[in-house]
Order: sequence, then structure tokens, then C-alpha cells
Amino acid sequence: MNPLGPDSHSYANFPDVSIQHLSLNYTVDFNRKILHGFTDYTAKIHVANTDKITLDFRGVAIEQVFILENNKETKLSFTVPTEHPVLGHCLQITIPKDKQVLDSQFVFRVYSSSTEASGGIQWFEPCQTLGKKYPFMYSQFEAILARTMFPCQDTPAVKAPYEIKVTVPAPLVAACSGSLAGKTEQEHIVFPNEHPTKFITYHFVQKIPIPSYLIAIAVGALERGQIGPRSYVWCEKEILEAAKNEYSDTEKFLQAGEKICGIPYSWGTYDLLMLPGAFPYGGMENPNLTFLNSCLISGDKSLVDVVAHEITHSWAGNLITNSNWNDFFLNEGFTMYIERLILGECSGEEHRHFCLASGYALLQKTCAELKDEVDFTRLHQNLAGIDPDEAFSRIPYEKGCLLLFHLEVLVGGKAKMIEWLQSYFKHFYQKSLDYKQMMDHFTSHFPNVKVDWHSWMNGIGLPTWDPIPHFKEHVSQKVQKLADVWLKENGKGATSKDLEGNAEEAMLFLDDIINSGQKLSSETIEKLEETYKLTGSNNVEILFRWLLICLENHHLKIMPTVENFLSKNGRGVYVKPMYKKLVELSNKNVIAKEKAAEIYDMNKSFYHFVIKSFVEGLLKSKV
Ligand SMILES: [Zn+2]
Repeated sequence: MNPLGPDSHSYANFPDVSIQHLSLNYTVDFNRKILHGFTDYTAKIHVANTDKITLDFRGVAIEQVFILENNKETKLSFTVPTEHPVLGHCLQITIPKDKQVLDSQFVFRVYSSSTEASGGIQWFEPCQTLGKKYPFMYSQFEAILARTMFPCQDTPAVKAPYEIKVTVPAPLVAACSGSLAGKTEQEHIVFPNEHPTKFITYHFVQKIPIPSYLIAIAVGALERGQIGPRSYVWCEKEILEAAKNEYSDTEKFLQAGEKICGIPYSWGTYDLLMLPGAFPYGGMENPNLTFLNSCLISGDKSLVDVVAHEITHSWAGNLITNSNWNDFFLNEGFTMYIERLILGECSGEEHRHFCLASGYALLQKTCAELKDEVDFTRLHQNLAGIDPDEAFSRIPYEKGCLLLFHLEVLVGGKAKMIEWLQSYFKHFYQKSLDYKQMMDHFTSHFPNVKVDWHSWMNGIGLPTWDPIPHFKEHVSQKVQKLADVWLKENGKGATSKDLEGNAEEAMLFLDDIINSGQKLSSETIEKLEETYKLTGSNNVEILFRWLLICLENHHLKIMPTVENFLSKNGRGVYVKPMYKKLVELSNKNVIAKEKAAEIYDMNKSFYHFVIKSFVEGLLKSKV
């Protein structure tokens, strides 16, 4: 029997003994699709006589555990007393008696390898890449998947600097969430090849303490192109020029972030890495190296707000971190609010308000989608026993952002809010915190401002506070009027000029149509398509919304486009609602009973572990 640690998603007993530094040394084996090697952990005793350190792991083969002294390995005993379907295993290592003294530090080493069941690592065959010649792999560890590569104290409450030596076959390139400290080349004979194969070992160092979920590795035929004085974009050469053009505003966002957050960018370089469309998220804020879904290259920079978002995480999330996954809004809600301050700084205050209004429309849409899972619509969640990936939605993002906009109105404007944010960042610099610490800090800064924290944190669905009167609304009102023309007058007088050249307005227009809940006739759908040519959009967000509207209104001519979309995009916010809709249509006999399962089977090898788990659960429960 082994109880959980203080974080309900981890076995780690970090208040007693915690990791101070990690040094990883792994080889990437594309033939067997595993990473094998060892990790050296520096641990520190916080409570005298602590005789065990507990780590999390799941789908990892543990080989040996040693204590290291003067570079000499001495075996340590370990047990694996428990297993949980979501949390995985607990690795309990005995601490030698002489190391159990208060404040003593010691180094131990665990040899391990990942397995087929390591859900945090995705592998692609050469035929699944753009160049078709070399394989590709990347890691995605948020929320609790670092433990699927190597055993660790896999909780955001524990932060430590790390370094990694990663060995890959030449000419592949490795990129990790740290600064490149060097690389060396060697030749080995690898069974079953007779000729020596050249390998390259890349050494990356991350000096700032980070939680385990921000450790990241990607390996592929990567090339790089400069996009700013401290920034490169890394990708396959086939999309290098497009990516360089799309993300040329990166430095502008970095400077705006520094101005708003009041702390200079701490991480040195800021690079982007483009991942295949199977990546389950839009972006992931791995330090020094944001991972981005290449589906977001639209050709007109209409989706670059995601870079402003990931840059914001350099402060909110990466320097100042939620200490557990129930308070994910401390990472994402704060980031959305500040991202919009950055966009306002770069494109004007009216644009910020337009983004806030769009976010509110998205929040309404998400609350409606989660009508059968209302517990996931709370800002402060209770996810004990539940995989945080299962609860993942836009709620922590948009409800969290709305809370901060509400606070902005209460305290008397943006300037006062920025002043508080700067003091909040300084106070919690490089620390992890929970929602109570955030509320206490706000209350001590604004003692006379009364906030109904209880309703905001624990209430379900849309908050009762209405933000609409506080939006500078010209643009969003214009868009709502256009949606009404279609909803009430079947598009009378509408022309292709209405939404031309403005992808953000087109997205909000489609959200307004979706949020109306009104059925559209086939004639209206055909006319919308004829007027705005939505099926041919290069903007993945527009196309996604459009396909959803077509499915909702049983416009089945769209099915080939839906199938094509689901074979190229694996991002959860698109794939999850689309499969939900397909399953619903199967159940109502609008499409063939097995259609959703057939589409899934065709694309299964392309999707990431978290998406597979979700869709398989959906198909099992509903069909
Ligand atoms: Zn984010």
C-alpha cells in the first residue's frame, strides 16, 4: 500500500525529499521506437530519517538503481508497490541510512528505457513526414506524461534545473527545452547493420528550475531559419520558408511580453519548432523551444496569436507555475489574459477587446459542449483520480481570462491590473503556487476590492457576470449583425466582401452561428459556401468551424472534406468535437452506424496517445 503524495496526480513524497537537479542521458532508437539510457538525480532530504524516495513512472522499463559516490555505482534496493490506470506506477527507492540526515544531498542513478506504452512520445515513419526520407519523434509531457519517458517526481510542485545528452543517428538533429551546450560525433556498429553508423550526441542545459512537464525532446531532419535577434524556427526544409514568413513578428511579441510582465525574458534564446499536424495541441511552451503545430501556418499570419500565447508562458506557467493540475487556469487563464495584452500592445486596444469578445464566444461554445460534464466547467477543479488530459478544454483558458478581465474592471482598469501582475510575478518568481495563494496575493494588493471568489472558483458553466457591456465592441457587434443576417434573413444582401481578408472576424462569425444553436437549411449552407468559399479556406480554425456547422445541420456533402481534415489534423480541440459529432450522427442514423469507427481506424496510426485514448473511449461508450 502506498498513498499518493500531496499532489493527487503524483506518488512523489516531495515535502520529505525532493529532486534538486536532473541529468538525463538517452539514446533515441528509431528501429525499436524507444529511448534507453539513464538519469542521475540529485535529491535533498527535507525531513530527517526519510528512508524512501518515491517517483512516478508509467510504461517505462526500470533496469537498475544505484547510488553514485565518487563516480562509483552502488546498488540500491527498490520496490514497485502499486499501480493505477491513470497515474501508473510508484517507484520506491530505499535511501541509505547515512543519507537520511536533514539537508543532506545525494545522487542516485536509474537505468531505464521507454516502451511502446510510453504515451508521452510519438514516433513517425519516414512516410508520415514531409520529406518522406527520415523518421521523426517528439515528446509531449504536459500534464502527467514525463513519467512515461523516465521515472521522476512528476508534479508541477517540484521544479529543478536539468541537462540532457541525447544521442541520435546522423544526420538527424535533436532539439530540447534548454540551451545547446555542445555536440559530439561517434561511430558504432549497430546490429543488424554491418557498416558503422554515425551517431551525434547533443548536450542541452536548462539552468532555470522547471517542472518535469517542461522537459522536451524532438528529433528529425530539422533545419533552422532565423526569425529574430534571439530566435530561430526549426522544421523540415519543405516548410522552412513558409514558417519563417509566418513567424517574423516573434521579436515584437517578446518585447511586448517583457514590457507587460515587468521581468526581462529570462531564458536566453526563444526558438520555435514546427511539428506534424498530429501534434495534439496548437502549441506547447517548452522553455527555449516552443513546439507548434504546423497546421497553424495559414500563409497570412492570421493564427500567429498562438506565438504570443506561448511567449507569455515564458512568465505565466514556466517561471510562475500552477502547483497542481486542479489550478491549471493559473497557467492558461493568466496566459490568455496577458497574450491579449500583448496583442493589444502590438495591434491596438480595440483589437484586444475584439480578442476578449471572441474568447467569450468560445467560452459560451465550450460550456455548451460540456453540458454533460459540468464539473469540468469549474475554474478550480477536483481531478483526483482523473487524467488531467481527460478534463482538458478551453475552460481554464477562457474562464480564467474572463476572471482576470473581471478583476480589471473591478480594480479600475488595465494599468492597475498590470501593476498587480508585475508584483505577482516578482513575488512568485520561479515558484509553484495554488489558487489560494493567488487570491491571497490579489487581496493583499487590493484590500478594498471585493471579489466573489467562491462563485468564480467553484461555479459551473458561464459566470453570472456579463462582460459584454465592458467590451469596446465595434467589430464584434458588426460581426454579430452579419451572423443575424444569415440566421434571420437567409443571408440577404451578404457578399464575399463581408469577411474578406479578415480571418479573425470570419472565426467569430462562425462561432456566433454555432452559439445561436439555430438550425440552418441546406439552401442556407449552400449559399454560405457560395458566398464565402469556406470549404477552401487555408485557415484551419475557419475550416474546422465550418465543417462542424455542416455536420450539425446534416449537410452530408461535406463528408469527404471531413474525412480529409481528420486524416491531416490530430489537434484535440478539432478532433474531439468532430468525433463526438460523428458518433452522435451515427447514433441518430444520419450517417452509417460504423462510419465514425471506420474513419478513426483509417487514421489511428497518425493520432497521438491522448487523442487515441479519448476517441476510443468515445467509440466504446456510445456506439
Ligand atoms: Zn497555453
